[in-house]
Amino acid sequence: MSWANPKTYIMPRIEPAYKRILLKLSGESLLGGYDYGIDLEMAKSIAQEIKEIHDLGVQIAIVIGGGNIFRGVHGTEVGMDRASADYIGLLATVMNGIALQSALEKEGVFTRHISAVEIKAVAEPFIRRRVIRHLEKGRIVIFSAGIGSPYFTTDTAAALRALEIKAQVILKATKVDGIYSADPLKDKTAKKFYSIKYLDVIKKGLKVMDTTAISLCKDNELPIIVFNLKKKGNIKKAVLGQKIGTRVY
Ligand code: UDP
Repeated sequence: MSWANPKTYIMPRIEPAYKRILLKLSGESLLGGYDYGIDLEMAKSIAQEIKEIHDLGVQIAIVIGGGNIFRGVHGTEVGMDRASADYIGLLATVMNGIALQSALEKEGVFTRHISAVEIKAVAEPFIRRRVIRHLEKGRIVIFSAGIGSPYFTTDTAAALRALEIKAQVILKATKVDGIYSADPLKDKTAKKFYSIKYLDVIKKGLKVMDTTAISLCKDNELPIIVFNLKKKGNIKKAVLGQKIGTRVY
């Protein structure tokens, strides 16, 4: 084979660095230009990026958050019982799951929506072996309702589900380029970490994921890549193993 001879030259295949990933999308990622709710144009744009990595043959599971609609803490701030407030948050993630599923299917990929609380009309229950089968068949799996219990976050759900389905990495999409020593949107002197150990994230109190989620990843040596979703093409770069964002190891 020679580069000079177009008849014998075969285009090199782009090989993803991972076969199975868990993508954590916060509810905020669906805000787009809005202050509240779901921007369907944003959902479409995210779906197109996800389809691109699906076309590379990567098995994709997504955990969707609900912060664009409701967070349990907002309820407790006005005196609501924490568990009830969290259940509202859980249901918010189910709505986001429906929107994301619809956007993905418009791009022509097959999907399955799995809710951790039973809500038969819109989502399947979580059955680990069945979910793995969906992934093997090339269906994109969307997990909603966190782990199904109050007092947790969808970051913890991402860590738990990633371990259960044996994902090789968690790709945590955020609105900044990675993990910084302080909030880069508020503090101009904030420094970016290109990689950081789990324990340092906890010790330094960096707001990446809650400590339950980080501990689960640490105990099971599951790497996390934190990257900026707002830059188009970043999900693909992460999947191809290119150096973007911050790697927690
Ligand atoms: N939640 C919960 N248990 C879970 C996951 C989520 O009670 O296992 C509730 C909690 O109230 C949380 C809300 O759902 O505030 C939305 O989830 P999260 O804040 O993790 O969403 P994100 O920040 O990713 O948008």
